[in-house]
This record gives sequence, C-alpha cells and structure tokens, in this order.
Amino acid sequence: TRLPESKRDDRPRVVILGTGWASLTFLRKLHTDEFNVTIVSPRNYFLFTPLLVGGTTGTLEVRSIIEPVRKYCQRADANEATFIEAECVSVDPKKKTIKCVDNSAIKGEVSEFELEYDHLIVGVGADNQTFGIPGVRENSCFLKEINDTRVIRDRILDCLETASYPGQPEKEIDRLLNFVVVGGGPSGVEFTAELKDFLHSDLLRTYPLAKRINVTLVEALPHILNVFDKKIVDHVEKRLQETSNFKILTKTAVTNVREKEITVRNDQKVESQIPYGLLVWATGNTPRKITTQIGQSIGTNIQNNRRGLIVDEYFRVVGAEGIWAIGDACIDPQKPLAQTAQVANQQARYLGRLFNHLAEDIYRQKVDDKPEVVPITPQQQQTLVIHPKHAELQQTFDNILKKQPLFKYHHMGTLAYVGDHQAVAEFKGDTSTTTFEGYVTYYLWRSVYFSKLLSLKNRVLVAFDWTKSTIFGRDVSRG
Ligand code: NAD
Repeated sequence: TRLPESKRDDRPRVVILGTGWASLTFLRKLHTDEFNVTIVSPRNYFLFTPLLVGGTTGTLEVRSIIEPVRKYCQRADANEATFIEAECVSVDPKKKTIKCVDNSAIKGEVSEFELEYDHLIVGVGADNQTFGIPGVRENSCFLKEINDTRVIRDRILDCLETASYPGQPEKEIDRLLNFVVVGGGPSGVEFTAELKDFLHSDLLRTYPLAKRINVTLVEALPHILNVFDKKIVDHVEKRLQETSNFKILTKTAVTNVREKEITVRNDQKVESQIPYGLLVWATGNTPRKITTQIGQSIGTNIQNNRRGLIVDEYFRVVGAEGIWAIGDACIDPQKPLAQTAQVANQQARYLGRLFNHLAEDIYRQKVDDKPEVVPITPQQQQTLVIHPKHAELQQTFDNILKKQPLFKYHHMGTLAYVGDHQAVAEFKGDTSTTTFEGYVTYYLWRSVYFSKLLSLKNRVLVAFDWTKSTIFGRDVSRG
C-alpha cells in the first residue's frame, strides 16, 4: 500500500552517504515508499571494484564497470529517491544534520547546503592507507577509484615512451622501467598479475624497450596474501616470480617515498633506495575523513577504533542516535570482518531488510492502534495508515529492533586473479579450507564476477572488452 503523494513528506528522512557496495545495495533493498530517501555522494556512479584492476592495463574499459546511481533512484516499483552529487564534510549527531559541499569543477551560486536526517546511513567506504609515510600521497598511484586506473595506464605508457627518447641515459632507462608495487595483499597481487599479462601479451610486442621492465612487489611481512591459505601463497609467489623481471621483496617495508625513488627497510633494519618510474601503493584501508569526523563528534572516548565507526549488532553507530554504518566504514569489535565487497553487500542487504521490517512493524502497530484513514481514490476506497511522526517512529524503531534476527555473515569464498589466465580460490568451512588454482579457477573467477555485475548493459560491455582484448590485444595508446 502506498502513501498518498501529499503525505510523503511525513515519511522518516533517510539520508544515505556514498554510492559504493554498501550504500547502493542498501538503496536497492530498501522499500523507498516507506521513507523519504536522499543519497549524497561525491560520485554519481557505482563502481564494480572487483574488476577495477583490469582497467589499469586496458583489459577492461572502466565505463564497462560503472553504473549511474540515478538509475537506481528511479525504479519503477518504488518512489523516487533523491540523489545529490556532493561531499558530506561534517555530521552533527546532536542536531541530526549533515553539511555538504560541491567538490566538483563546476560550481553554482549554491555550493554548500545542510540536510536534516532521521536516519543517516554511512556507507562511505574507506580511503587509501599510507601510514603517514612521507611522500606517498604526492608520488604514488592508488587502486581505488576510476581515475586511478587511468593514471596508472597512462603512467606505464609514459614511462616506456620517455625511456625510448634518443640519448636517454642507461641508468635513467632502468629507473623509468622499474615498476614498484607496495603491499602484497589481494590488490597489490592482482595488479602485479595484470601488469605481467600486459607486459607479455602487449608491451613486449610493441615496445623494443619493454624487455627491460622490472616489477618489484614489496611486502612488509614474510609472505604475500597473508589472509590466504599457505598452499595458495606458495603457488602465487612461485607464479609471480617465474619470469626473471618479476620479483617479490618480502620482510621489506617502504619507509619513505620521493619523486623518483623509495627507501625500503628490511627485517635486519638495513635501509636501501629503489629508483622507480611507476609506484603503485596498495597497503590497505583507513577511514575516510568524514568517518573520522563522525567518530570525533560523537566522542573519542566512545568511538575509538582506528578502523572505522564502532557499530552494535544492528549496525547502529555506538553513541549516536539515528546513525547507522555499513561496509568498510564500520567495525563491530565483537565480530570484526574483512573490508570486502562481499561483506559490505551482505551487511547492506541485512540493514535494508531491517529497515523494511521496521517500517512494516510500525505500520502494523498503527493499524491496531486506530489508524488515521486516507482513501487513495474514491474508486479504490482503500485505506492507508499514515506513518507516525519521526520522533515517535524513532522510539518505536528501537523497541522493534530488539525482536529482529541478528546479522550473520556467510563467507562465500575468496577469489583472486594471478595472471596468465589463472586464478586462485579459497573456500573456508568450519573445520577445513579448500583451495583451487589454475585455468578452471580463472573461468570460475570470471563467471562469478560476471554474474555479480549489476546490469545487462555492464555484462555485455565486459564480455565485449574481454573478447576484444583477447583477439586484438590491449590498446597501448596514451590518453
Ligand atoms: P591489505 O590490507 O589486504 O594488504 C596490504 C598489505 O600491505 C599487507 O600485506 C601489509 O603487510 C602490506 N604493507 C603495509 N604497509 C607496508 C609498507 N610500508 N611496505 C610494504 N608493505 C606494506 O590491502 P589490500 O590488498 O588493498 O586489500 C584491502 C581489502 O580489500 C582487504 O580486505 C582485501 O581482502 C580486499 N580485497 C579483496 C580482493 C579479492 O578478494 N580478490 C581484491 C582486492 C582487495
């Protein structure tokens, strides 16, 4: 049953921050009829992050893995949600307001505004972790946003073009063609694998100097892929180092980054310098500024976790009323989970369902409670219940919440591409772990991600890109 148009403003105001896995999944799950929904994010698209590294070498075009968020604001089966492209810079948990600014190139007379919320869903993801190491932000390429892939692709080709200048000194050619990847987690490994494919399938054919490219994966711990089973780690380490120009430097931490070289320190505390042409930084996640600001405005005595906003079992941010956090932005210290798309997706589905149940339960309560009756049309003479006002709803929310089932994460397994049409997969049971490696796993990896793409359009484009790069190779033009 739908609320009449005139009464829609009475719905509780739900403001969603972000357009990534957590926020978009929540929006897709939410019965937007029941709420007055606004989405605020500095980017007006959803990015399918598991396939992002393919964009760094041109295996995929990035436009094939993004989706306009506005499309999901106008679903035929639901009332419209409002999207605003802006960055939320602060939240006032007491006044229940957020402040937003326009951080895009085009600015109008209004480039700042405030919004009130009854429920704020923080699904802003995470930022790149740099551990405060000097020079990282200024000199590295990252692996998080669409533009990162463009920057990396451009830089690989620029290094090769510059190295090919007549009279370029040998030492400078070696520097330009030394590519360093920092962080041996899944992001760093998948990127190194893509780079290996790009080199062997395309660059060696096109650039005479490409055979001088050296790739070093630097990892602070004794092994790469630390969350994976040892069998997988051994397999991937062997695969990545089987060609002479790829090497893994473990037990080595980067401690300083300058424009053309990095300083590394090994476990014996010996420091050395590595010159580079391309530096890709993939050392994990840290909370975004807005996440930290929300935590600070609640109080650092309550919100004191370095990974994100502390939430309870229902994803309510501890210490604030009406703020919820999901995905990489949150942490439940009782049950900490990995910061993956899979986790964000399941949390968002749970929270969406929770909100829908809450709305329904409040609705039913009101029916028992002599509801206000509004006919939709004279023909239908159907009766409707108007939602209670926000404050009352808020209280009812809390009471009903306790009757809801708790979130349970179901780990579906982990997949990673390791290059040369091979992937690894790990499925953890309660007592044992099953691992797979090789070509068949690669097709599993592709099929899983292909099936998870949000739209038919994206599937067609991704299938086309994969076919195109297999038949014609990747494009080596800059720009
Ligand atoms: P990560 O946290 O998984 O790994 C970062 C690595 O960098 C660690 O091994 C760490 O020891 C190393 N490191 C940190 N500082 C360093 C330094 N100064 N010098 C050298 N090494 C250093 O980060 P990630 O790979 O970016 O992944 C982030 C999250 O995304 C994780 O939860 C991961 O599981 C997930 N992810 C999953 C997949 C997949 O499932 N295929 C792919 C990408 C990312």
